[in-house]
Amino acid sequence: MGSSAHSRRNILRGIGAGAVVVGWNAVTGTWSTASASAEGVIPVPPLDGTLETSPAVLGEFSKDWGGFITATPKAVLRPGSVQDVVKIVNYARANCLKVAVNGQSGTSDDQESHSFWGNAAVPGGIAIDAKGFSTIHSITSTHAIVGAGVSLHQLSAATLDRGLIVPSQTDYLRLSVGGVASVGGFGGTVPKYGLFSDMIEEVEVVTGAGQVLTASPSVRPDLFNAVINGAGQVAVITKAKVRLMKAPERVRMFTLSYTDLAKWQRDQEFLMRDGRFTHQGGGFSRKPDNSGWWYQIEAGYYYSSPSVPDDAALLAGLNDERSALQVHDHLFRDWTFRVDPGEQAWKDGGFWDGPHPWLHLLVPASKIQTFVPFVLNELQVEQLGAGFTILSPFQTAKVTRPLFAKPNEPVAYLCDLLRMPPPGDPNIQAYLAQNRRFYEKLVSLGGKRYIIGAIPGMTPTQWQRHFGTVWPFLVASKRRYDPDGVLTPGQGFFS
Ligand SMILES: Cc1cc2nc3c(=O)[nH]c(=O)nc-3n(C[C@H](O)[C@H](O)[C@H](O)COP(=O)(O)OP(=O)(O)OC[C@H]3O[C@@H](n4cnc5c(N)ncnc54)[C@H](O)[C@@H]3O)c2cc1C
Repeated sequence: MGSSAHSRRNILRGIGAGAVVVGWNAVTGTWSTASASAEGVIPVPPLDGTLETSPAVLGEFSKDWGGFITATPKAVLRPGSVQDVVKIVNYARANCLKVAVNGQSGTSDDQESHSFWGNAAVPGGIAIDAKGFSTIHSITSTHAIVGAGVSLHQLSAATLDRGLIVPSQTDYLRLSVGGVASVGGFGGTVPKYGLFSDMIEEVEVVTGAGQVLTASPSVRPDLFNAVINGAGQVAVITKAKVRLMKAPERVRMFTLSYTDLAKWQRDQEFLMRDGRFTHQGGGFSRKPDNSGWWYQIEAGYYYSSPSVPDDAALLAGLNDERSALQVHDHLFRDWTFRVDPGEQAWKDGGFWDGPHPWLHLLVPASKIQTFVPFVLNELQVEQLGAGFTILSPFQTAKVTRPLFAKPNEPVAYLCDLLRMPPPGDPNIQAYLAQNRRFYEKLVSLGGKRYIIGAIPGMTPTQWQRHFGTVWPFLVASKRRYDPDGVLTPGQGFFS
């Protein structure tokens, strides 16, 4: 979205904030801004924040970054307190309305849900603007307590000022704490520490029954396990306690290239077992002369003075094409915010507005040699546009919370096609169909999807298949904590 569109959006937001909603008119099925005494109007309780209904504001909450689903809410709550969420959840229950949090992440002039398939959508219901919870409450040497609408970018900036960092977080940081805790959160340190959601030690939530509760692995663990990676199904997260560790001063990044997929996989798993690098990722990219694909490992060594990396020792035992090796040394702060220039370049090139048919899959290690050739047999580099791929290993045992559905093997790979089609690309539907084909193939090989991404046509039965053995836990948690089924319909798990 161009800058003129951003400023227009902000002006409209200001105008929209003027209308005051007094109640839901159950007779006309509309909000009343006139008189609470009109027939059929059920008054909204007094709020610390605002409930907005102007078309401009509703329009801002009707799409997400993926750009495939348009679903307009009837109102947007900009909460001024946790009690506002309680009141609106109870109001929704009493009036058969739905509610969903919208992470409103991004840059300050361009905030939206960074979901792909209407996950935060609440057609005809009430969207909650997570920015109502954007306070960093405290930071100690071991953890931060933050509002769920704080972005990982804001949190990193604040912790780095104190020499601290979240051990595992997403590569792209302009995402909300609550939105990422609800789905998982992959980044380069997942092989060592687990997902971002594994860094959450406690949450404060408003359940779908309107109760304010705290939960952690030791206090109400069943609620905690239903909230973390739980896609907003049982509660609204308002606050989270996030683990921190000492940040290094620098990171030395090694890009290792391979033409042989088997050698690449051997080295990925050797390095993960060996643990010499803190950051470990990878992907595949077309060779510049278009003669085939490179498979790459991105390995990062964290260090602080006076220690100095021993490159020879770090590269010992690896079988990469050494002539293609690239080594770059970065200040850790620069490395943390490494995606910012790329985001700006995508925006400047018109790639940011979408649609974005991104695909995120989880491949069992034993099927890499089957699945990757299957994909590359069909994938043309043009189908990625200005985007790229990720093929990155993780140890499934490091993913500790039950609702993250993962392949049933000790090692799995995140396989992403982060497609950035040029404006007006006529092949978007073909990319979606290809995503679906790749997903079905993977399911037949025992793989899973990451619940983010653009895979069309998921049915409740297929979601049940996705969650597998934890499906009964999800269903029971939904019944217990969201008995009227008001929360987060856009995930489409149940209907
Ligand atoms: C450009 C881009 C880069 C990305 N990079 C990465 C990456 O590096 N690693 C990675 O793992 N993912 C990445 N993602 C995916 C991202 O993690 C998810 O889409 C995430 O859910 C988006 O968070 P959000 O703050 O925009 O939340 P939303 O998209 O608004 O919400 C996601 C879901 O969680 C629910 N939800 C949000 N907040 C709360 C809350 N407080 N309480 C309860 N439910 C809530 C919503 O209703 C919705 O169902 C990226 C996405 C984009 C667009």
